[in-house]
Amino acid sequence: NKKVILKDYVNGFPKESDMLLDASSTISLSLPEGSNGILVKNLYLSCDPYMRGRMSKSQGSYVDSFTPGSPIVGYGVAKVVDSGHSDFKKGDLVWGFTGWEEYSIIPAPETLFKIQHTDVPLSYYTGLLGMPGMTAYAGFYEITSPKKGEYVYVSAASGAVGQLVGQFAKLSGCYVVGSAGTKEKVELLKNKFGFDDAFNYKEEQDLNAALKRYFPNGIDIYFENVGGKMLEAVLLNMRLRGRIAVCGMISQYNLEEGEGIRNLSSVIGKRVRMEGFIASDHYHLYPKYLEMVIPLIKQGKICYIEDVAEGLESAPAALVGIFSGRNVGKQVVVVARE
Ligand code: NDP
Repeated sequence: NKKVILKDYVNGFPKESDMLLDASSTISLSLPEGSNGILVKNLYLSCDPYMRGRMSKSQGSYVDSFTPGSPIVGYGVAKVVDSGHSDFKKGDLVWGFTGWEEYSIIPAPETLFKIQHTDVPLSYYTGLLGMPGMTAYAGFYEITSPKKGEYVYVSAASGAVGQLVGQFAKLSGCYVVGSAGTKEKVELLKNKFGFDDAFNYKEEQDLNAALKRYFPNGIDIYFENVGGKMLEAVLLNMRLRGRIAVCGMISQYNLEEGEGIRNLSSVIGKRVRMEGFIASDHYHLYPKYLEMVIPLIKQGKICYIEDVAEGLESAPAALVGIFSGRNVGKQVVVVARE
């Protein structure tokens, strides 16, 4: 049973060498007598920015730290091989927390979602139909309460979450601009995901001036994915009663000490509402989200781009890559296709 193990806690940017591929252990493909858990074969694993917080010893993250010497844990799509739990049977497909290994025993499978729609790519349950999809859905609709005609700005816009926020904003009749870190990503934003405009933030000397160019009348809704200098510039460009959904701040995750944010007092004068949120607090909306999004996928009204890494051995590089923008779209690792 091959596994990806976290060697030790990480400081600064994570490196491939912080993880280790261990092929030394074996696993029985049936559960011990009396187990209430399930044994799964992992198919697709998700690389997500919040996992960086779990690699630190002391973290301000909203989830616990990983245990050095143990496999990395993350969202994934898996197939039930053996079940001691009455809600699951052999052959069921599930998504939720699993291990970065070929097979995992999940002692308390109640938190997993059973996959009902299998006529879409299964890997989508790490992205569009999984946690990042719920993040885009809850963050955009629940936190920002968008109205037709509003001006929306999305950072890290070509990623797992951002590409969906932009498409939801268009479906809501908003004007949406996204930023990303390469020319290729900017092209995708404009030509594939239907953003009204897009720019490469790495080519802008002055982010405040760039935002003034794209939003001469200011921003009603900012979907915050990166923090740092970008947030500082956005704060100067918010409109009266604007809303900021604070989804993530990836530019801050690898800093040894968090950088202070300037311009925060703009939220007062402009009566801006800034609200953090966690996707899993909104999982009760998952059936409603599927009801909305599955028909949109089938009608070709929502598209989704994935960056697929092949094999468990490619997982460390894939995870590290999201912190330098190497991924184009949702970063997925294929462990097995069925
Ligand atoms: P992505 O697929 O967007 O991957 C991360 C991207 O962030 C990279 O491709 C890169 O794109 C960009 N990036 C990396 N470092 C920096 C930096 N220093 N400054 C600016 N951009 C950077 O990830 P997700 O869509 O999964 O996540 C996006 C954000 O949403 C993250 O902040 C994440 O933590 C947050 N999140 C929050 C959740 C919640 O429940 N609150 C749930 C899921 C995600 P580029 O080339 O454009 O730089």
